[in-house]
Amino acid sequence: MTVSRRRHGLETVADPGRGPRVALVTGGSRGIGRAIVEELAGRGLHVHFTWRQQEVAAHRVVEDLEDQADTPVIPHRLDVRDATACRTLAAAIAKKDGRLDVLVNNAGIARMRPFQDHREEDWQEILATNLDGARHMCGAVLETMREQGGGVIVNLASIAGVLGAPGMAAYVASKGAIIALTKTLAREVAADNILVHAVAPGVIETDMLRSLGDGFRERALKRVPMARPGRPEEVAALVGFLASGRCTYTTGHVFYVDGGFAI
Ligand code: NDP
Repeated sequence: MTVSRRRHGLETVADPGRGPRVALVTGGSRGIGRAIVEELAGRGLHVHFTWRQQEVAAHRVVEDLEDQADTPVIPHRLDVRDATACRTLAAAIAKKDGRLDVLVNNAGIARMRPFQDHREEDWQEILATNLDGARHMCGAVLETMREQGGGVIVNLASIAGVLGAPGMAAYVASKGAIIALTKTLAREVAADNILVHAVAPGVIETDMLRSLGDGFRERALKRVPMARPGRPEEVAALVGFLASGRCTYTTGHVFYVDGGFAI
């Protein structure tokens, strides 16, 4: 193994003779996912990412990174709720690139509604996207990671999944479940050298935060000791380290990126 320094002097472990490490990021068209795509590409990984509806935004990511990344970043249309499509995409990447080292389960949705106003469709859609989507993708990559001798999975949780958040019951349930899944899967696959982490952002400036309304944003920010929202790249920096191959004796834990919210 050698350590390479890429853009911004970031370190990433590389395997000589095996080409760049390969990553798949779900929901890479916008927000935190897009920042993770940029971070991993900047560290020299070969990055595949998915989008569901916003094709224009996905192609903008590719264009913006054209001159910066060593290898092209590749967009794929995917709905993570579709287990078969998740398996097909993971298998196609493993076949084409010969490996799949890093999976980042980032795709997610949120809705603001009091518990009693949550409709059945809200619960189904949020849990299917945030929880089942991550479950589908984990299931789709484990065999490849086992066969190649290891890998890294990073699941985007939320501090809401730890602390709760009034008005977001389905979202909170999905993120609490992601944390529980992360801990259990980490224990199941540790012997295969597959590390599974959860990253729990606080209040991060993205379309998702904007969709929850100014009232939510202001109330949440009052609880942030650093007194400002986070930027997507501040979450991506931690994910980049977890995925770099330099973080080798940690698994199953939840890492907060929250300006001190959860203290
Ligand atoms: P955004 O709403 O900005 O972006 C969501 C991304 O998920 C988009 O790329 C979207 O694709 C994709 N996506 C949504 N539904 C699906 C689906 N069914 N299948 C595939 N892709 C889908 O979200 P954020 O960047 O804010 O959030 C990213 C992650 O971080 C989420 O898991 C979120 O819960 C978590 N998080 C965010 C926080 C915040 O304050 N922003 C705080 C805590 C956690 P498309 O562009 O095509 O629609």
